[in-house]
Amino acid sequence: MVLIKNILIWASKNDWTSQKLPKYRFIQKSLSRFMPGESLFEALDACNNLENTNYGTIITYLGENVTSENQSKGVTNHYLNALSEIKNKSLGTLISVKLTQLGLDFSKTTCITNMKKILDKANELNTIVWIDMEEYKYIDKTLDIYKYLSNYYSNIGITLQSYLYRTNDDLFKLLDFALYIRLVKGAYVESESVSIKDRDLVDNNYLDLSKIMLNKKNLSKGFKPSFATHDDLIIREIVNEANKNAIDNTLYEFNMLYGIRPKLQNEILKSNQNIKILISYGEEWFPWYMRRLAENPKNLFLLLK
Ligand SMILES: Cc1cc2nc3c(=O)[nH]c(=O)nc-3n(C[C@H](O)[C@H](O)[C@H](O)COP(=O)(O)OP(=O)(O)OC[C@H]3O[C@@H](n4cnc5c(N)ncnc54)[C@H](O)[C@@H]3O)c2cc1C
Repeated sequence: MVLIKNILIWASKNDWTSQKLPKYRFIQKSLSRFMPGESLFEALDACNNLENTNYGTIITYLGENVTSENQSKGVTNHYLNALSEIKNKSLGTLISVKLTQLGLDFSKTTCITNMKKILDKANELNTIVWIDMEEYKYIDKTLDIYKYLSNYYSNIGITLQSYLYRTNDDLFKLLDFALYIRLVKGAYVESESVSIKDRDLVDNNYLDLSKIMLNKKNLSKGFKPSFATHDDLIIREIVNEANKNAIDNTLYEFNMLYGIRPKLQNEILKSNQNIKILISYGEEWFPWYMRRLAENPKNLFLLLK
């Protein structure tokens, strides 16, 4: 399984596979389970359906590591238009962005300028903007930008990854000022020196971090944790922890990805927990799709079937 995972992660970064494989119809067909369509219109349509059944929604426009000012402006304009469309359609959809899509690789200043435009627009709509956490090499820069922007905006959330040794320290620093933190296990392949390799230990760390995030002192400051996982055992533990401490279920939420464990998504919804579904869309789906397949190599057998 580890070998399959590594091959899929390798494929997600390889130029040849990235150009050839997306053209195969069987790959495009299998993708529809995880992505309602490439266009914003199709993503928002799916959001509308989900919101009609009481799920919250988040969208993210796929693509990473843009290399020019113009490309980063294009992505920024895409998100500004997405926010207008969300308003026009009276949806509650939030957006989740990657800083490398907004220029982080070549200019921190450009990235901040682009983020400010998006945050200003989101402020008008009274909605928050999530920042994804990318590979390890971007973490310091991402946290610096998040901290800087938090001086001016309160409608901004950041993602932390439980597979990293550093996350406990990062969480404690963020809890001084952050209002929205989303906890994930982590989707990239990182070195042993920085990341926990044992899956049980990653899960334990997730639980430890979630308990800190659910601390009443933090919640009383208006801090709202989001637990982004499809791990039913972890979800159950978090709900138990909240119940044990009489924490109202409006003070935290769960997030999951479109098409992953839909039965579990429904169970969470039916048990009166708040849950938001994140929908990815866009033409640049290949590396993202390979990472999703790598998260559960059984998906590969479904694809081949
Ligand atoms: C809303 C949201 C935002 C995210 N943002 C980021 C981010 O900014 N940075 C980042 O590094 N990662 C991000 N991730 C991905 C995350 O790090 C994990 O890679 C992913 O969520 C899988 O981990 P898990 O917690 O579900 O646990 P796992 O232990 O991987 O899975 C738990 C259970 O869910 C099933 N499952 C999980 N994924 C799949 C799948 N793809 N297909 C089928 N079954 C699956 C597993 O089989 C298992 O039964 C995000 C995830 C979500 C839900």
